[in-house]
Amino acid sequence: MDTNNPGIHHRRVGEVMVTALNDGAFEASTAWVSGVAAEDCEALLRKTFRAVPPRITISAFLLTVGGEHTLVDAGCGTAMGAPFGKIRGHLATLGVAPADIRRVLVTHAHIDHVCGLIDAEGQAYFPNAEVVLHAAEPAYWLDPANEAAASEGEKSGFHDARISLAPYAGRIRTIADGAVVMPGVSAMHLPGHTPGHTGWKIESGAESLLIWGDVVHLPGIQFPRPEAAMAFDKDVETGRLSRARAFALAAGTGLLVAGMHLDFPCFGHVARDGGGYAFVPEVWAPAA
Ligand SMILES: [Zn+2]
Repeated sequence: MDTNNPGIHHRRVGEVMVTALNDGAFEASTAWVSGVAAEDCEALLRKTFRAVPPRITISAFLLTVGGEHTLVDAGCGTAMGAPFGKIRGHLATLGVAPADIRRVLVTHAHIDHVCGLIDAEGQAYFPNAEVVLHAAEPAYWLDPANEAAASEGEKSGFHDARISLAPYAGRIRTIADGAVVMPGVSAMHLPGHTPGHTGWKIESGAESLLIWGDVVHLPGIQFPRPEAAMAFDKDVETGRLSRARAFALAAGTGLLVAGMHLDFPCFGHVARDGGGYAFVPEVWAPAA
């Protein structure tokens, strides 16, 4: 029996119950970081007592309001093999069946965010869900010319996006920056990591939360050194600008943030710290 934290964490935001669902974690490498030297990355990791090489956790989020269920991203499903794809078991634990998911808000179309949309046979895992994402995302990933021009290393990303979105044809809603996609939930385009990379802002009652997708992959490195980019950022400079904008917003307003690769359970605040920032994980409290 796995006696660890099961990877399910509730955090109410106004009327919305936001549940972080951990999908798994994998070992990363400081060699994937650009803009900060590997030895500086390792020093930062050690300073916060993190693993070297670093680990990247993957999470998705379930929004439940008025008995209706919305996912923000879908994890990787079966695409990364065991022990990934854990959110399916977490949803079952919560009594939420795939057919109960009304919509999936997608931050971007990478393997660890959209491959959970499909089952092992390539069919829609969520039979009743609408898929909502920024228009620039399918425009980029589903364009055969972009795929043909991609390097061999990048081609798998086009395959992952294509097979994950295909069974949802006819129920994909593309949106623009700022779009309100359900009551209290709006899109914040944060391009760079991918062209349509989007955070989802939840506002309910007096509370707000920004689920910012992949603004950060390695918290131990990218908060103190926001210029640190990742090898899988499509447009490094645009990604840096989006990260700077998200950090300044969160630090300047006290906005609560969550991210797919922040340390589980993923919720916290951003504080200015010297010339960079620090992530302040939210102290646990029982969900009301
Ligand atoms: Zn990711």
